[in-house]
Amino acid sequence: MAANNHIYDCYRPPAQEFVRGEGPYLYTEDGDKYLDFIAGIAVSGLGHAHPKLVEVLNAQASKLWHLSNMFRVEGAERLAERYCDHLGWAGKVFFTNSGAEAVECAMKTARRYQHDSGHPERVDIISFSGAFHGRTMSTVTAGGNPKYMKGFGPAIPGFINLEFGDHEALKEAISETTAAILVEPVQGEGGLRPLPPECLRGLRALCDEHGLMLIYDEVQCGAGRTGKLFAHQWVEGGHPDIMAAAKGIGGGYPLGACFATAEAAQYMVPGTHGSTYGGGPMAIAVGNAALDLMEEEEFLDNVVKVSNFLKQQFEGLKDEFPDMIEELRGKGLLMGLQMKVPNVDVKVKALDHNLLVGTAGDNVLRMAPPLIITEDHVREAIDALRKTLIDVKAAG
Ligand SMILES: *Cc1c(COP(=O)(O)O)cnc(C)c1O
Repeated sequence: MAANNHIYDCYRPPAQEFVRGEGPYLYTEDGDKYLDFIAGIAVSGLGHAHPKLVEVLNAQASKLWHLSNMFRVEGAERLAERYCDHLGWAGKVFFTNSGAEAVECAMKTARRYQHDSGHPERVDIISFSGAFHGRTMSTVTAGGNPKYMKGFGPAIPGFINLEFGDHEALKEAISETTAAILVEPVQGEGGLRPLPPECLRGLRALCDEHGLMLIYDEVQCGAGRTGKLFAHQWVEGGHPDIMAAAKGIGGGYPLGACFATAEAAQYMVPGTHGSTYGGGPMAIAVGNAALDLMEEEEFLDNVVKVSNFLKQQFEGLKDEFPDMIEELRGKGLLMGLQMKVPNVDVKVKALDHNLLVGTAGDNVLRMAPPLIITEDHVREAIDALRKTLIDVKAAG
C-alpha cells in the first residue's frame, strides 16, 4: 500500500507526528504526550533534547559545521582516546555517520589486516542467523536475512551465514579462506538474544587459534544500553579485535565509530578508507558531551537498577498474561517480550495508550527506552502495556 506522499514507502509510520521531545517523552503539535520506550531504536539513550547536548550542539553550530577528514577535527582525537581508554583493548578509531558504515569499516579493516599480514586468501566473513548489521549491500549480505536480500541479489561473495548457536557448524566452516567472525554480543533486530559469556570467550579462543579477526557489532547493544558502556565488557576475556558502534554514542546526532586494536588497524593507511562527513565537528562535539554524561557515576548504575525493576515488572506481566506473552528477552534496557499474539498488533495498539514500542524478529516486542528513565517511567509503561494487552485480547 503506497502512502499518499513522496517519501519511499519503506516504512509505515503511524499518523502521529512528533514535533518535540523532552527526556523520555515525545509530543505532537497538539501537545499529546507519549512515553518513548524505543528511543529511535536505542539511539536517544540520554533522552530527547538533553539540555547539555542542546547547549553543546548550539555552541558548535555557531562555530564550525564541516571540514571533511582532510583536516583535524577539534575534539576527535580526544573522543577517540577517551573511548580507547574505556575499552582497554582498542588503539585506533575511525568515525562514521551510521552503524552500517561502522560495520563496513570493521569488515574492511579485518580483510585488509589479513591481506597485508601475509594472508590475502583470508577473505570470508562468518556471521550468524538472526544477525543485523545494516542495510548497505555488504552489511545486508553479512546479516544473511533472506527477507532483506530478496530482489537485491546477487549476494556479495565472501560471506558465510551460520545457524546461531551451532558450534559444530562454526568449527566446520572455518577454513584457510576465513578472515573474520562478525557477531552482536546481544542480537537486537534478530529478537534480543544475548550471546552467553562462554560463547564470547569461545569465539575469542577460536579466533586466536585460527588467526581470525573477531568483530563485534555493538551498534545497538553499546553506549550503556546493557548497563556497561559496551555489552562485551560484562565478559572477562571476551574482547574483540574490531568493534562497530553507533546509535547511542551520538545521543541522537548521527555518529558511528569503528574501534580496532592498534595491530588490526595498522594497515589502514592513507588512501585505504575515507568518509566526507564521518566524525565531523558537530557529531564529535555531541559525541564528547554524550560520553561526559554516560561517564557520570549514576548513569550506568541507573541502567542496571531500572532494568532490574523493568525485568521484575515484565515477569509480573507475563504471569498476568500467560496466553499472550511467551518469554522475556534481552539484557539491560534492551529488553523485549516474545509474544504469542502478533507483536505488530501490540505495537500499534500501544499508541492508543500513549506508549511507543518497537518490534524485533522472533515475534518480539522490542523496548529500548532512554537510559535515563526512572522506576516511575517503568510503572507508567507497564500500566500502558497492561491496558494494551487487554485491548489486543479483546480484539483477538
Ligand atoms: C541499527 C544497527 C545497524 C545499522 O545502523 P545504521 O545506523 O542504521 O546504519 C547495524 N548493526 C546493528 C546491530 C544495529 O542495530
